[in-house]
Amino acid sequence: MTAINTSVFELLKIGPGPSSSHTIGPMKAGYDFHCLMQQLPQEQQEKATELKVYLFGSLASTGKGHGTDRAVLAGLLGYQPESCSPAILDGINPDNPEGILLPLGRLKLLFKPTDMIWDNQQHNYPFSNTIVMRLYSKDNILLEKEYYSVGGGFLQWKGWQEPKQGVPRYPYANAEQLLKQLRKHRLRIDELMLANEIAITGCSKRQIKEKLDHIIKVMQQSVERGIVTEGFLPGPIGLHRKAALLYQRAKAMPRSIDRMLVFLCAYAFAVAEENASGHIVVTAPTCGSAGVIPAVIQVLLKHQKLSRDVVRRALLGASAIGFIAKHNASISGAEVGCQGEIGVASSMAAALIALAYGCDERIALNAAEIALEHHLGMTCDPVKGYVQIPCIERNAMGAVKAWTAYLIAKESLPEWHKVGLDKAIEAMLQTGRDMKVEYRETAMGGLAKVC
Ligand code: SF4
Repeated sequence: MTAINTSVFELLKIGPGPSSSHTIGPMKAGYDFHCLMQQLPQEQQEKATELKVYLFGSLASTGKGHGTDRAVLAGLLGYQPESCSPAILDGINPDNPEGILLPLGRLKLLFKPTDMIWDNQQHNYPFSNTIVMRLYSKDNILLEKEYYSVGGGFLQWKGWQEPKQGVPRYPYANAEQLLKQLRKHRLRIDELMLANEIAITGCSKRQIKEKLDHIIKVMQQSVERGIVTEGFLPGPIGLHRKAALLYQRAKAMPRSIDRMLVFLCAYAFAVAEENASGHIVVTAPTCGSAGVIPAVIQVLLKHQKLSRDVVRRALLGASAIGFIAKHNASISGAEVGCQGEIGVASSMAAALIALAYGCDERIALNAAEIALEHHLGMTCDPVKGYVQIPCIERNAMGAVKAWTAYLIAKESLPEWHKVGLDKAIEAMLQTGRDMKVEYRETAMGGLAKVC
């Protein structure tokens, strides 16, 4: 089993919603092709007649509702996910009948709405969410690239190889190996993660701390924007934003369990609604599930008054859960259904709460397992292909389940716990493989079919 050598900042990425595999990954693909087109010799650029973008898998079936076309075009225009403002994205209209002029060296290339081809949902490419871009000179192909949006905003392509990175100081490939390393070297999870991050990326301890603080700040900003924004979400459903109402109601409630739960839900709604609006969120681990971790972080910081230092370390530790899930299964709704998105987010959040309260690694991993176990089998069935129903409420439920999982893990004896996190992840993968394609982000099954 190869050791995990992913950086925390590949998992926790800043970018526009509403779906990391449908927006961040495709936007990166668009930007990559933009760069390749700029690098073509001028005589080839002058010969170019049209660019075609072919979308496959769930990108073909739900990409329209997820804004995949807009994200690809933003990339082709030269914008990158982490620095593209919502205003720029809001200003791109892929359905403009007059088309959009794309830069091509000193020239411009007209991209028409019909150049975006919503191709087959079923195909033989190695990954479900595949994008093929072709630059033509009449019938001849000048430039072609096959991209795979593999979930969580990660992008690969034909011939892709794992980028050369440093070797983790404490290698592990699953939860069992992680526990062994922690015990052998008498480390906390965040200490191991920090040492590995330094070894993998070459960043200093201070740089990693600053980047994590920035991630937490962006998470909090999305909560704060969401709890004051009212009105309707974009798209044909006509869904009311609810976070602001929930937040105001929570503030008016007497101190109680109900109040804390409504705050937790309000924060998860806030981020999920920001995501549904195509605004900036942090993939945690994906855009669709971006509300779960910020909701628990907001409660820990604002209501439980934990220090930023404690929360930063807990977030770093909890990232190990996302790594293990991605490494041994998937965090993509198109691959394994919603268990890989909200399920993994809830699992990470459960570990985060446990670590923030000073629980040891066994309790944190048990909390992560309990949260994931009770999302097993959860399908992805976004109504009308929009990341709104059931996604937004699912973020709140994921946060509540995370808190419950933490309490169950903390208040019972770790040695009584029977199912390890690795088994739950294995079950998630098997269940995802058994899931019919209708239940994997195609908007053809479940709620999407009956609503
Ligand atoms: S149902 Fe879950 S996996 Fe599917 S789009 Fe919504 S949040 Fe993502």
